[in-house]
Amino acid sequence: MHTRSSNDDATDRQLKLLIGLVVVLAVGVTTLGVLHAVATRAAIPNPLVLILIYAISVISFRIKIVIRVGSNQSGYTWVDVPVMVGLVLVPVPWVILCVGAGMATVRILNRADPLRAAFVVAKEVLVIGAAGATMLLLGAQPSVDHPQASITAIVVAYLVSWLVDDLVFYPVIAVASRQTIRKLYRNDLGEQVIFRAATLATVVYIIEVLVLGASLVMLAFVPILVGCLYLWRLRRLRTQQERDSWRQLADTTDELSSVDLNQVLHIGAAQGAKLFSAAEVEIDLTASGVDRVVRAGTDGVLYDGPGPRKFDSDLSITTELETRDRSYQAGALVLDFDGKVKLTEFEQYKLKTFASALCTAIRNAAAYAELQRISEQNAYDAAHDPLTGLANRRELYERAEEYFAGRTEDGVVALLLIDLNHFKEVNDTLGHAAGDAVLREVAHRLDDAAAPGDLVARLGGDEFAVLLVNLITPALATHRAEQMLSSLETTLEVEGMQITVEAAGGIALAPGSGGINELMRRADIAMYQAKRAGQPTATYAHAQDTADVERLMLGGELQRAVAEREFVVDFQPIVDLGSGEVISAEALARWQHPEYGYLTPMQFLETVERSGQLPAFADAVLDQALAASGVWREAGFDLPIAVNVSPRSLLDSRFPATVLTRLASHAVPPDRLVLELSETLTISQLDTVGRALDELREAGVRLALDDFGTGVSPLSVLSHIPVNQLKIDRGFITATETSSEAAAVIRSTVDLARSLHLAVIAVGVESEPQRHALWELGCVAGQGHLFARPMSSIRLLGALQRGSGGRPGALAAALHDEGSVVRMPRRRASGSGRTTG
Ligand code: C2E
Ligand code: CA
Repeated sequence: MHTRSSNDDATDRQLKLLIGLVVVLAVGVTTLGVLHAVATRAAIPNPLVLILIYAISVISFRIKIVIRVGSNQSGYTWVDVPVMVGLVLVPVPWVILCVGAGMATVRILNRADPLRAAFVVAKEVLVIGAAGATMLLLGAQPSVDHPQASITAIVVAYLVSWLVDDLVFYPVIAVASRQTIRKLYRNDLGEQVIFRAATLATVVYIIEVLVLGASLVMLAFVPILVGCLYLWRLRRLRTQQERDSWRQLADTTDELSSVDLNQVLHIGAAQGAKLFSAAEVEIDLTASGVDRVVRAGTDGVLYDGPGPRKFDSDLSITTELETRDRSYQAGALVLDFDGKVKLTEFEQYKLKTFASALCTAIRNAAAYAELQRISEQNAYDAAHDPLTGLANRRELYERAEEYFAGRTEDGVVALLLIDLNHFKEVNDTLGHAAGDAVLREVAHRLDDAAAPGDLVARLGGDEFAVLLVNLITPALATHRAEQMLSSLETTLEVEGMQITVEAAGGIALAPGSGGINELMRRADIAMYQAKRAGQPTATYAHAQDTADVERLMLGGELQRAVAEREFVVDFQPIVDLGSGEVISAEALARWQHPEYGYLTPMQFLETVERSGQLPAFADAVLDQALAASGVWREAGFDLPIAVNVSPRSLLDSRFPATVLTRLASHAVPPDRLVLELSETLTISQLDTVGRALDELREAGVRLALDDFGTGVSPLSVLSHIPVNQLKIDRGFITATETSSEAAAVIRSTVDLARSLHLAVIAVGVESEPQRHALWELGCVAGQGHLFARPMSSIRLLGALQRGSGGRPGALAAALHDEGSVVRMPRRRASGSGRTTG
């Protein structure tokens, strides 16, 4: 509803003024008429004639109401007929009286607005006055008995009355409807001319018959003529109305072509009410499975929410919302009327058309919404990891790239790369469902530990990354990373089992150049360092990167390295902790790189393992190790030689054969070779590896389990692989003095080894107290900087020959005087530790 404005008030005043003017003019005209009648001493006409004119006026004025089917407000009446006939028969004042009374009667019966009634009657008085004056001027003499009026006088008088009618009517309507007179007139003109012509014909016909005294039979044609005109008029109005209706329908369907379902439903309901002049309209989608009803009146939406619908009575008309071909059903359209309504055939057709247009619009909007949903889902899927719901690699890269492009205000940014240790074993031992549960829990914990704005992503497998943002100082990155990793420390429960997740995290600060790829590379290097160092986190440091920068690039140089014999081997002695005597030596590979110098396995091993050069590399190491062993034996030191073997090599079926060939070519007895296997083998690999190793074992080669204590399931490894030695991981040795847990691990390893008749070697013995502690714990063999760093075979031979304290073959003083040493049942910690018979 629009509120009244001062503009409306102004219009009102103008309108009242105009109507007042018309009324005053009408009163003037009436007075003039009466004066004229008195002056010409006109006789009082036959009352019967007056009553007849009055009756015809009532009827002809009412006819308009019957005609008014459409919305056309400028409808005409037939009141001009009694006016013109009356003017031929009686003086002007009587015509005014009879017709005016007739019109007033109809208006009163219709309870019309007094202002409008006054206007309509006053206007007609002016029309009568003008027509009457014209007739008199043209010599007409009104008389019941001897009427005298020429056709010319009648026609001219009628035309004048028409002119006056329009002159009065259009200004007032223009003010009331706020349209220009021109526009109103143009709209009406065609119809008016036809209608006026018909009226004039009727008038002339009736008067001719009356004047000429034509037969009454002729008069009978008048109702037929009038009836025809009436029907013609009705048709015209109907056609007009239908045309308007179609235009309205077309406009509505245009409006419905929206992809927004809400808009379609709201417009559909409100326009439906307007189109069918319904009190309210409901669109009920419940039949299509959507619990939604939209209700609207002509003024707009009244309700939009869950069903059921309100209308389901005799007073409502329900139509299925279905497409023309009935392939799609959206629900129902309900028109509710104040009273009982029967739709015409045209309206029914219109309703069907509207319903199918609405249904098509609903279908299109629904399809669009679905499309939208799918594309949003796709966008989400493209950016997220389905298992954990975290961002995925792509999302991380995009976010980081935004940062590098300077499009965010994330402050200092760092990347934390997290890799779970031994995750594969969880998968292999407990199954993939358990593995997934672990990953989900890890994701959950990292997400919880992240600060607002940080982006936690899963890059794949057991690799996670966190983009740390808004760091006030770069140093904060380490702190935040440690927090995140410590969130993983508490054991998690999977399928009723307590699992400890260990992880290594690499931190790198966003570099000035190189973008996300460089940031990733640096974090990766840091993580790799953390892993190798057995620490939870490590931060990328440029100094350590000199060779690592090329780590990836080194891949391309491996072929040359093998061909040019750039891989060399250093040897680290393994000693009897009690006596300090060397009991064997471990071969450790080095890369004598022409450009980067002496590279350690940490810097190149991964690249080698991933490349196709692994067999050649492993063979080169084995070849040099066996050669060294031969040199030492000739010099009188018959030491078993331990060689590290990559898990990947063990999966190669040709591996056992190459080892045995090498042993034969160097004439080294197989039991002088110890193969050190990493404990990080997975269970599924163990089966394959177990079979390959059986062949070597049969031949007499010894096996050692490296990094013991760091894996998830040492016992399952032991049950698959017939090893002879356990090498306790350096991490435990470092912690012996400070951690009772580490001591407990060592003690239980020693106990386990004793019951399985295995030798135990401690790796990374750096100090005398450690040596003592290990000895106390029952561990009798070890290697480490305390005794010797890895060195070339020639240097090691020299050291062996020099000996310690005058004892060749020893590298440290004995723990106790030889005589006072109380030995446990003597176990040799060498390759031949396990008694064979
Ligand atoms: P590993 O088998 O645990 O070897 C022992 C590592 O600990 C060696 O590092 C050695 O230099 C270091 N180490 C020994 N005593 C001490 C000590 O007292 N303090 C400290 N801080 N470190 C000590 P390296 O030579 O860098 O080798 C690293 C790893 O590379 C080895 O760990 C082994 O797993 C692998 N590796 C070395 N050579 C080869 C090889 O020829 N083939 C394969 N597949 N792996 C190898
Ligand atoms: Ca080793």
